[in-house]
Amino acid sequence: MKIPRIILTAMVMIGIFILGMKTVIHFLGTASQTVQVTRMSSTTTSSLAYEQHRFYGESLHFDSTVHFTEYILQNMHTNMQYVFAHDSLNDEGIELSTLSAGVYQILFDSYPVEAYEFESQTWYTIMRNNEANEINLFSSDNLLYLQVNIVNELPENVYDIMIDPGHGGLDSGAVAYGLYESDEVLQFSQVLATYLTTEYGLKVKLTRETDSDPAGNDDYSLEKSPYYQDGRVEQTYQYQPKLLLSNHLNTTASGTASGFQIYSSFETTNTLALLLSDALQMAGLSPSLLDSEASMGAGTYKQVDYCEERIAHVTTCTQIYEDYFFIIRETGGISTFAQNIVNYNYNYVTVPNYGAQAFLLEYVFIDNYSDNLAWQTNWQLYAKNVGDAIATYLQIL
Ligand SMILES: [Zn+2]
Repeated sequence: MKIPRIILTAMVMIGIFILGMKTVIHFLGTASQTVQVTRMSSTTTSSLAYEQHRFYGESLHFDSTVHFTEYILQNMHTNMQYVFAHDSLNDEGIELSTLSAGVYQILFDSYPVEAYEFESQTWYTIMRNNEANEINLFSSDNLLYLQVNIVNELPENVYDIMIDPGHGGLDSGAVAYGLYESDEVLQFSQVLATYLTTEYGLKVKLTRETDSDPAGNDDYSLEKSPYYQDGRVEQTYQYQPKLLLSNHLNTTASGTASGFQIYSSFETTNTLALLLSDALQMAGLSPSLLDSEASMGAGTYKQVDYCEERIAHVTTCTQIYEDYFFIIRETGGISTFAQNIVNYNYNYVTVPNYGAQAFLLEYVFIDNYSDNLAWQTNWQLYAKNVGDAIATYLQIL
């Protein structure tokens, strides 16, 4: 049915009017709720402590004792609102890269958040096409706000991405058919870092640039070294990357396994892991068929451990499951239940409330002859495709 133009115009006008009414109603709703806020503050302890907010990658989360379903960020000047689900995975929450410049009041559902003697904190999103969001979280008159500024440069010690060539120094990692994992992943990581910088303008830090332990420790316990000054984990907190890729090559006792494995935190989406899987498959690699219990499909894995089973390494268990790999668990701050940065590095009196979204990639099994040959022939292509997958995920063109 063809609707006459004049009626169509009238319908649009009525629509705009209804929309306008809704805005007015919404304003009245907000105003009347201030009364409820007073009641709420007298019956709840909604004051936010340090450990009740956490930055993870490009996300911000609040862990409140007050039940709520949505974060609402209301622009103080335009009243425009952003709404994000509260009950969400670590790489969801308040998605900081989607916010435009301005000052926002933070509401849990429709209630303002009270924050007494709140210590302000600054965090940065990833640099996209020469622009990043500088996020300032602060309180004013005991209410919580978030200010977004657009910046064209990150502070000297802040990076977008950390690339971690596994092993190094005394620890050569896997060795087979003349290849040393520590050397191969260093070369690979350097090419990947350069590609991300030159092709996509990302600020990338390598955890090591030579065949050495990142903490410069030649007489060390392998287990504790990552937490020492300039160790893999310590660098993550020092340089505040939003993404971390730890690069490895695999072996098995039998030499019969093959294919790639991509591990990520069990409390994150599998989005980037699947993009990385596609990228490696496009370069001719196949997903590994190992560890089916932890498998999320297409060579992606979320491997967890019972906290009690590694009780020797931690002081307390605050939850049942934890990420199995330390590079994933210990670099995410309180979001991933990191603990050892405090146990092993006395410069850290508390686990940072920020961290990176980490991935551990095992590209091939170098003790499998055809995998080994594929790596030697195509490793630069793998690096390029991994770089492109990261850019796709970050929506950098
Ligand atoms: Zn390794």
